[in-house]
Amino acid sequence: MKTLALRAEIFRRFLKPIKTIYWVASGSLFLLAFLLPADNLENIHCLEFFCVVVLYILIVFYLIIPHFGFRRWVLYLFPLLTVSLVTIGYALFGEYPIAISSLYVIVILLAGVIAGGAIAFLTASLSVVGCIVVESSFGYPIQYQLISSGSQLIFFMMAVYLGSTLGNNLITRLNESQQKSANLALLLEASLVVSSTSDLVKALPELAQKILSGLPASFVRIDILEGKNVNGYGLAAHRTSSNHSLEVNRQFLLNDSLLYSRLLENPQVSIWSADQFQNQDEQLSFYDLFPEEVKICCLVPLVAGKTVLGFLGVGEARDSNREVFDEKKLEFLGTLANQLAIVIENAQLHQAEQQKSMRLEILYEVANVFGSTIELGELLEKLYQLLIQVIPADTYFVGFADKKSRMVNIELLIDEGERFKSESVPLGEGLIGYVLKNQKPLFIHAMSQEWDNLPVKPKLLGKSKVSQSWMGVPLGDGAHFNGILSVASYKPNVFSDEDLAMLINVAQQAELAFDNAYQYARVEEQARKDSLTGTYNHQSFLEELDSMVKDAEIQKIPIALIMLDLDHFKEYNDHFGHVFGDEILRAAVNAIQSHLKSSDVMGRWGGEEFGVILRDVTIEEACKIANRIRETLAKTELFKGNGKKIKSPTVSQGIAYYPSQAQETQDLVEKADQALYSAKSAGRDCIRLYGKLDPCET
Ligand code: GH3
Ligand code: MG
Ligand code: MG
Repeated sequence: MKTLALRAEIFRRFLKPIKTIYWVASGSLFLLAFLLPADNLENIHCLEFFCVVVLYILIVFYLIIPHFGFRRWVLYLFPLLTVSLVTIGYALFGEYPIAISSLYVIVILLAGVIAGGAIAFLTASLSVVGCIVVESSFGYPIQYQLISSGSQLIFFMMAVYLGSTLGNNLITRLNESQQKSANLALLLEASLVVSSTSDLVKALPELAQKILSGLPASFVRIDILEGKNVNGYGLAAHRTSSNHSLEVNRQFLLNDSLLYSRLLENPQVSIWSADQFQNQDEQLSFYDLFPEEVKICCLVPLVAGKTVLGFLGVGEARDSNREVFDEKKLEFLGTLANQLAIVIENAQLHQAEQQKSMRLEILYEVANVFGSTIELGELLEKLYQLLIQVIPADTYFVGFADKKSRMVNIELLIDEGERFKSESVPLGEGLIGYVLKNQKPLFIHAMSQEWDNLPVKPKLLGKSKVSQSWMGVPLGDGAHFNGILSVASYKPNVFSDEDLAMLINVAQQAELAFDNAYQYARVEEQARKDSLTGTYNHQSFLEELDSMVKDAEIQKIPIALIMLDLDHFKEYNDHFGHVFGDEILRAAVNAIQSHLKSSDVMGRWGGEEFGVILRDVTIEEACKIANRIRETLAKTELFKGNGKKIKSPTVSQGIAYYPSQAQETQDLVEKADQALYSAKSAGRDCIRLYGKLDPCET
């Protein structure tokens, strides 16, 4: 099909001289008919022939070819019609010394060049027949005819050979020049695709597609090396190929690909045939890169200077016995790979430059953020928003060590975009503990690979999945203020040394701001707490209750409010004095808090009266917790200064439930208070649920 197109191209190129020859020939015939001495009858023949020639030209050049294009049958029709025309013409002008054999040779030569050997042979045979017809019509003796057609046949065959060889040579040259210009176009397009975007990752699939159709091939992949990772960003498969088994944008470690590792050792163009593998590992590595139908592949390293930037893989589904990667194709693939390496290197340099200026910009913005607010939560959130623009992290958190409680308070934890509630982890444990203790950054490139050599094993936070890339840098001087800023990713080897440098830089800038904000936050928190018991004071407890009611309304979850009042507490004061009374009060608070989760809230309503908010519990669960508080208080052992044991305090509790009993904060408090009053009236040391006469016992 391709040869036919190329022959059509030759025809198109010859069209102009052919048309000229026809016009000149027919014009001369016309003149001959009138100028040469001949009788009237012959003049008429001449005119008729002239009309036939004009008609022929009109039909062939102006109707058949433009209408049907260069189809095979058109190519057949063209020399055959010409032979018939020559024969008819000679029969008409036989008396003039026009050598018919020379005319036939011209036609055969043309047929050979334009339509190929087969058509030239057919034209030659027809021409012999034509010669015989003409010679017999002029009454040549049969012997002469036989000898003449024999010699003409040899003559014609030579014309066939000459014509078709010339044609084939033209085709080969045309083919080569077309291939060359196609290759050049492909090289140009490849450069354009990469340089038209600043994002290399987005450009590579399109580039692979261009190479696939330009080569052509069954499968093309472009992999970029990033540290020890291979990123299969550009994959393209011919539409008949099935590449379901291959993931787009697949990332794998260089060590996992035997073929690529070999290529890195010896960065040369290499050809791998699926049925020539020496071992199974090679075969597996081959099918990691290509779909099953690929039988042979050519792998080319993309080398810029002495650095291997990545690999170009071209897979062919065609039978490997046929020479699918001939010398010319390999040479072109080499050139293409060089060109690709240059554009990829340029794109990477450009990206690195952009990344650098972006980092500087972010650092500048970080400095601005730190100067703009003292709100810790706001600082942490803004810092996260800035950092993720330059560091490709899945997880981000900031923690502050609290030496008194020996805990690290994780102030903001974001895992795959999801925000987790503040939590505390024991100081000294896991990777966080290691960074805080050593006051040095910790950088883990690929957790699974480095697992055996890790100084400490990680503790899971957030989504409780093990991160693969992990960076943590200390905040503060470790003595007065000790914190950690950390980012992590579930993919291995995603962070670079520049990322770590950026994080260290940010941490240094953040230190002072975080210290101030953290101290400020602690002072603020302190102001909200009651100094004797450490629980929320009356005002803050009400605020917490209000915000929890609102949150419960949005989240459609229930909450329970327990109001607690210690029984006959005045007697403790009267008997043992207020100082000891205070101690009893603290012991009672500890007993209550031991049954609360981190999502629950406790506050001092006033005097020896407390409130507890239980989040997302059923009535039964709330009653159960109240009962446990009662039991724990009963078991609390109190000793006077002289070591004498004194009676454990008891507590009365009233419970109201949101949203089934009250829909507003005020109402909820009043109803819990009423329930507490009922408990007191029922004889104290018991629990009452609002609106229920029965004791709340489960
Ligand atoms: P009941 O609630 O069972 O009716 O008896 P009660 O004796 O606990 O009742 P009341 O409300 O009359 O007395 C509360 C007492 O709690 C008064 C005060 O002596 C004591 N109290 C309140 N706040 C404190 C405190 O901060 N420290 C100490 N030591 N005692 C306190
Ligand atoms: Mg009391
Ligand atoms: Mg009271």
